[in-house]
Amino acid sequence: MKKLFKNFTLIDGNGNEPVKNAFMVIEGEKISEVGAGEYGGEFDEVVDLAGKYVMPGLINAHVHITMEPKGDQSGAQASDAVLAFNSARNAKAHLDMGTTFIRDMGGTNFVDIDLRDAINNKLIEGAQMLVSGKVVTMTGGHGWSMGRQADGPDEVRKAAREQFRAGADILKVMATGGVMTKGVEPGSPQLSEEELRAGIEEAHKVGAKTTTHAQGNTGIKNALRAGIDCIEHAFYLDEEALDLMTKNGTWLVPTLAAVHLIVVNGKTGAMPEYVVKKAEGAVNDHLDSITRAHKAGVKIACGTDSGTPFNYHGSLPIEMMLLKKIGMSNMEILTCATKSSAECTGIEKNYGTIEEGKFADFLVLKDNPVENMETIFDIEDVYKLGNKVERKFNHPANVKEYLV
Ligand SMILES: [Zn+2]
Repeated sequence: MKKLFKNFTLIDGNGNEPVKNAFMVIEGEKISEVGAGEYGGEFDEVVDLAGKYVMPGLINAHVHITMEPKGDQSGAQASDAVLAFNSARNAKAHLDMGTTFIRDMGGTNFVDIDLRDAINNKLIEGAQMLVSGKVVTMTGGHGWSMGRQADGPDEVRKAAREQFRAGADILKVMATGGVMTKGVEPGSPQLSEEELRAGIEEAHKVGAKTTTHAQGNTGIKNALRAGIDCIEHAFYLDEEALDLMTKNGTWLVPTLAAVHLIVVNGKTGAMPEYVVKKAEGAVNDHLDSITRAHKAGVKIACGTDSGTPFNYHGSLPIEMMLLKKIGMSNMEILTCATKSSAECTGIEKNYGTIEEGKFADFLVLKDNPVENMETIFDIEDVYKLGNKVERKFNHPANVKEYLV
């Protein structure tokens, strides 16, 4: 199949000025040519996108596909079959709302791994995935009820090996406490530097990237000294941590949406009090921490923590709107949610920008997102691997209330 898309304005994901009167040729699943002006030839399909804008599909670097975004998540664990059905729906919801690729940051019973394969094998339709399997956490540490608990460097090493044996693409380790787990504090360190290093070594041996849930400063620096590739959340970064991150080229995925959505829905009574209290206690420090990271030149990718309370699957445009609060321009945010997220997750050779040779994952928009980013909540069309997606999921009707 050879298709021509023409007459649109192109935002290529590289941060370049939008190109007017652009065209794009797609052969099979890939982009074979991109340019501007008239283009002739024989095609199976010609799509005239006059007045529309085209940009790369969004990439969400932090999702929990097996988690449901309900307020109280402390109840009994659903069966694996129920988790699988829900996860399939969630992957479709991401895709329908414009996120064509996601990195899962902690699944349950390896349902995330089977889901990735089912999508790759075209058994079901959803955003394409990279997955971490179970998070590796200390006994009783953040995320323990869904994770693999491990204590001491040797056991962390074994736990990491288990994830790769099961088919994980990346390793996620827990360096600090967090908001969602009862009885642990976001600021307190958890796995030690030695334990983190053992897990990271195992991942790097198989060529996999590593990332860590890290909110407090001591845990963040433990992970940085242990050689981590990416920090998730980072509520309390200090100058030393920022220095280490810029020096090592460490990625940062702020997930502003996770804390924000708990705080703006704090009065609904849907969440346990300890969750709301911890989020309220962290939200301003978090914004300050990420603002300083951006100013210092730390590499930032875009992720939501979808699956946490009110943080629905498909919520990446919320994170994009929140990144304005740390001083990012619209163009910076558009690049963050495409090219940077691709680089952070290691898929940049094939995804993240609209360029020859890359897979044809892209969005058709009604308005110019560089001027009006809210247009991303009302996408005209989503294309995955060169094919138009039949969509059935939309952003929640009250999404504007989430942006207050
Ligand atoms: Zn998470």
